[in-house]
Amino acid sequence: MPVVDAIARVETFPLRIPFRPANGSSTAPRPPVDSLLVKITTGDGVAGWGEAFGFEAAPMTRWSVEELIAPLCLGRDAARIGPLMREIQQKLQVFGRGGTVMHALSAVDTALWDIAGRAAGVPLHRLLGGGAPDLPCYASLDPLGAEPLVRAGVRAALDAGFRAVKLHERAPSVVRAARSEAGDTTTLMLDVNCAWTLAQARQAAADMAGVGLRWLEEPVWPPENFAGLAALRAGCGIPIAAGENAATLLDFGRLMDAGAVDVLQPSPAKMGGVTELRQVFPVAAVRNVAVLPHTFYHGPGLLAAIHVTAALGTADAMIEWRYSDLEALPYGEAVVPAAGRIAVPNGPGLGADPDPGVLGRYLSD
Ligand SMILES: [Mg+2]
Repeated sequence: MPVVDAIARVETFPLRIPFRPANGSSTAPRPPVDSLLVKITTGDGVAGWGEAFGFEAAPMTRWSVEELIAPLCLGRDAARIGPLMREIQQKLQVFGRGGTVMHALSAVDTALWDIAGRAAGVPLHRLLGGGAPDLPCYASLDPLGAEPLVRAGVRAALDAGFRAVKLHERAPSVVRAARSEAGDTTTLMLDVNCAWTLAQARQAAADMAGVGLRWLEEPVWPPENFAGLAALRAGCGIPIAAGENAATLLDFGRLMDAGAVDVLQPSPAKMGGVTELRQVFPVAAVRNVAVLPHTFYHGPGLLAAIHVTAALGTADAMIEWRYSDLEALPYGEAVVPAAGRIAVPNGPGLGADPDPGVLGRYLSD
């Protein structure tokens, strides 16, 4: 007997969205942002959406979805996500447990959870037990570099209603300037994307003493240098955040076992989708580690993080909102924060569909 809700179609939608032209002449033109959405449709016509971390590797990720993962999914029961994900992870483990293939699988997994919610007629957060109607967001700024640009970015985010701002800067002097612009009541974070050696990180942390950072994110190279993170954390006086480059539950367990983090940042478009993300929360909770997912993107991966955080997050939960001046967003105006908070969608599944106009206009091939 055929499976009623067998996976019938797996489609990829590579998007390339440019930034709006900068006001004034101080900002160099920036390349557009690539992302990869995945749509899965069942034989009985239920469709779900997922997102893989894109950026420059989007073509590799797309190939992984279409050539590696889709053949393992077609004809399979869309309602048995866990067993299917385990089987595919086992089949593809030779290609690495993190990186492009796992990013691709994250999108497929999220799309299947979207389908599960839609088939049940309930939002994803209800499948996970239900949760808050909205969540606070922090504005995650692009790397801006020069102090006046960083000050302007912080000011714009505060004016838009955010009460928490994350910088992607390197210079302690710029971070101090951002603090003076933000005032004492704004929550301020710094992400340096693994820029430093342990010694450099220690020096930078010392240079930023008194800034009052909520966390210092990915301070040391390489990202899997958990012992380096732990050594820094033991003495630097600033809470440490990491995890956007870890994948699957086991890696997050290792990060915590190493004593490397105060804040864990699983990225649903990278680390295995909803199936893995929802497991990280309780494991972190019993270790008193906060989970604040990485979502420097605006598609189904962001929605997945919102639903899972609403259902499983703790009182200090915040959603990362990429505060970038992009020309368009995958959900248009349907998924945007207001006054620093974002609604948890109440429609079935992820609760929103990508804007067809945006898909049509920004499809990159
Ligand atoms: Mg980061």
